[in-house]
Amino acid sequence: MSLDQHYQLETLAIHAGQVPDPTTLSRAVPVYRTTAYAFKSSQHGANLFALKESGNIYARLMNPTEDVLEQRLAALEGGKAAVAVASGTAAIYFTITNIAKQGDEIVSANNLYGGTFTQFDAILPQQGIKVNFTPLNDFTAVESAINERTRAIYIETVGNPALGVADIEGYAEIARKYHLPLVVDSTFTPPTLLRPIEHGANIVIHSLSKWIGGHGTAIGGAVIDGGNFDWSDPKFALYNEPDRGYHGLRFAHDLGDLNKIAFALRLRTVGLRNQGPTLAPDAAWIFLQGLETLPLRTARHSENGIAVAEFLQKHPKVSWVKYPGFDPLAVKYLPDGANGMVVFGVQGGAEKARKLVDSVKLFTIIANVGDAKSLIIHPASTTHSQLSEADQLASGLAPELVRLSIGLENKNDIINALDEALKLI
Ligand SMILES: *Cc1c(COP(=O)(O)O)cnc(C)c1O
Repeated sequence: MSLDQHYQLETLAIHAGQVPDPTTLSRAVPVYRTTAYAFKSSQHGANLFALKESGNIYARLMNPTEDVLEQRLAALEGGKAAVAVASGTAAIYFTITNIAKQGDEIVSANNLYGGTFTQFDAILPQQGIKVNFTPLNDFTAVESAINERTRAIYIETVGNPALGVADIEGYAEIARKYHLPLVVDSTFTPPTLLRPIEHGANIVIHSLSKWIGGHGTAIGGAVIDGGNFDWSDPKFALYNEPDRGYHGLRFAHDLGDLNKIAFALRLRTVGLRNQGPTLAPDAAWIFLQGLETLPLRTARHSENGIAVAEFLQKHPKVSWVKYPGFDPLAVKYLPDGANGMVVFGVQGGAEKARKLVDSVKLFTIIANVGDAKSLIIHPASTTHSQLSEADQLASGLAPELVRLSIGLENKNDIINALDEALKLI
């Protein structure tokens, strides 16, 4: 990267990973709509395939628009490399299967995004990867769940939908003790608010579809490699045995200087190349556009989020409110704002909660979060309805819980809309 690494986040969000296009001098990042890239000679092609020279081969693996996005995300998170993929869900799946194989296990917090819970609970076990769920920040439970087959610890910075804040440094300490990578889904806390690698995480995952895109216009995901984990421990078979997925390469040994980003390189050369969860360059462009204003937007989401949370706390028809900024751990992990997610319990239970969702103006009833527009949903009957009632309660999802993703509208308009709807129930 040509850019001075010491620039602040607001500057990196606009410039990191990009110089004006050398051929056209286009100032904005061009969208490279191509399937493949010409080799200058057969020797050039051979060098690229052997990873002796870096360069573009085929757009399932790499694309210059995505390269800017990846470099920018790595810079913002303080990581060493990043890989963009087709969705946040793919980012999670290809991260886990880039670490664990049949017979291996993962220890995960249980307060997960609904789709992630189902992937861990129903899909990974079909492929011989067992996930042991433990309650958030219960470090005794985490240590008892770790055994000789464990290959990673998995958490969300702020869980969905109960909005519990993970004590990342507590998890990082255990991860170091057992020499396991700490994998953190940081979707609810973009890097302008929280950078998990600074707290000891090794791998950071984002659904770009949320605040990073920021406008509800594209699906994508990314994985950032902290470059701070030693994969040469033989228990990580995928990094120490010759990989049939890439010319027999041993990713923890045969890459020279690049061994420290073995995780990201393997994700690209084995995951993207052989399993194909590629992001479209047009979507990458949308996420780059989003990143430019991310610092401004997360500041406003946070300002509006806390205002709504404080309003609801005082409302007689509201039985409880959870906002990550009220969590005691926010002082340490979210000093610059806690973003726009607010959940609360409506007096009178699930029926009143659904009535409120149906009554409120301005908000859209929707499964998404992280849009410029304010969004509302009743998770127990929608996003998390696949979970059993016991799993719902274990992950902090009460039947009367209403989830808000507070947008960038004027905060008084948002509060008035909620106030009017609460009057109607
Ligand atoms: C949305 C979301 C995902 C999944 O991302 P997609 O881009 O929708 O596949 C994963 N984790 C969290 C926390 C999310 O909010």
